[in-house]
Amino acid sequence: MTQRLYQGVEGKTDATTEIVTGAPGPDFRTWDSTDPKLREECGVIAIHGHPDAARQAYLGLYALQHRGQESAGIATADGQHLANIKGMGLVSEIFTDDVLAKLPGQMAIGHTRYSTTGDSALLNAQPIRVDSTKGLIAIAHNGNLVNLGNVRARLERDGAYFQTTSDSEIIVQLIAHSKAGTLVDAIADSLSHIEGAFSIVMMTRDRIFAARDPRGFRPLSMGRMRNSDRPDTIVFASETCAFDLLRAEYERDVLPGELVMVTEDGVTSRQYATGFPRSSCIFEHVYFARPDSRIFGRWVQESRDQMGRQLARESGVPADIIVPVPDSGVTAALGYADQSGIPFRFGLIRNHYVGRTFIEPEQRVRDFGVRLKLNPVRNLLEGKRVVLIDDSIIRGTTSRKIVRMVRGAGAREVHLRISCPPTISPCFYGVDTPSKRDLIAANKSIEEIRRFIEADSLAYLSLDGLLKCCDSDESNGFCTACYTGNYPTQWIDVEDILPATADV
Ligand code: SF4
Repeated sequence: MTQRLYQGVEGKTDATTEIVTGAPGPDFRTWDSTDPKLREECGVIAIHGHPDAARQAYLGLYALQHRGQESAGIATADGQHLANIKGMGLVSEIFTDDVLAKLPGQMAIGHTRYSTTGDSALLNAQPIRVDSTKGLIAIAHNGNLVNLGNVRARLERDGAYFQTTSDSEIIVQLIAHSKAGTLVDAIADSLSHIEGAFSIVMMTRDRIFAARDPRGFRPLSMGRMRNSDRPDTIVFASETCAFDLLRAEYERDVLPGELVMVTEDGVTSRQYATGFPRSSCIFEHVYFARPDSRIFGRWVQESRDQMGRQLARESGVPADIIVPVPDSGVTAALGYADQSGIPFRFGLIRNHYVGRTFIEPEQRVRDFGVRLKLNPVRNLLEGKRVVLIDDSIIRGTTSRKIVRMVRGAGAREVHLRISCPPTISPCFYGVDTPSKRDLIAANKSIEEIRRFIEADSLAYLSLDGLLKCCDSDESNGFCTACYTGNYPTQWIDVEDILPATADV
């Protein structure tokens, strides 16, 4: 990895360190047409009360790597100093032993990110640290704000100077400009002025904060490491799979509209917003979160298993084998196979070692993208009626390549089943989606998509079925906007949700 180190960044005191390492390569990009999947933009972690907080944050980020692979950062504090190191690349590429040794302290926050902003990716890597009138604040944010223009413009009129184009910095600037008397009041006041999706962790020199937006779009859980010789270590993470690696016990979710503060004196909490309908991102259960995580009070594995079962009930088809599109289709395929009584087989093998080297904007390579990642198991597929299980169709081109690959390996019939409804609208809440004109389901009927991808049959899970599989009820509501176009917040750019006219 190219190393580009910055030390002594402008505006800092001796008591702080910030290092930015790495440089954006050609693969730091906006929506990647070689990759069929929607991308989560971030995962966050926070540690309070551990003598080697940086290493704990590193382990937590390692477990959250699936939520963003383009940049990562860790900030630590020891009561007086606040250090921050971030860079481009995977967590394990950035944080070697030598680098972690530069991050002393008992508190840490960390962030891993999927960038969407080209050259500014390095600038916008997190945690972001701002030296404000309320002192040094570092922030790591998962989600996306949707009233950016208004708030940013108002802050700039009030004299705010933005170092990045990241909406996360808006939160810190709001805190800095709040008229509230205490820091915790200023944070609560600021969070109540922003709209959209945010699960955030923040750190000052001597405390940690964690908060979720009032609708609870993105997950954020609190855990505890029990220490016999000192106070417990408190941990926050986007997903509970991070707790397992840290040997922390899951304690509870941070509630929508809740602000939690952790100091030497313990954990305190307040509701800074109430009365909003819950709209947790249902696509976390469909695809983003790891199946070994428990999010929004429910195991992801259980939801995906139910999606497969429901899919089999809704759109079963006579077949010889059930084949998942690995890895994300595996759990739903197991549920489908169990429900239908048709044998489950790994008829497609994924190469886990295809790195970013191959994801380059060269047409010559792009055409080979799917073949590099997946390979059919011919002796399992030959002569068989195959049900392929996947979790989404975005543009349709990748699904067509997979269907062709399975048929090319000798399958007699290829039926594609998708474990969620058709994706018809882009996400504004922290998921990188192509525009509406590139979403095949926004522009074609299911029968037209079937013909396009060359499958013998195609069916999606119904919206009612999906909600049932995620145990949705009044107290556990979900955002389903990418399947319905009904957004839970205002401030949506109307241009982006108008029906598209261009062909895929
Ligand atoms: S629009 Fe879709 S991906 Fe975005 S938050 Fe809502 S359900 Fe999740």
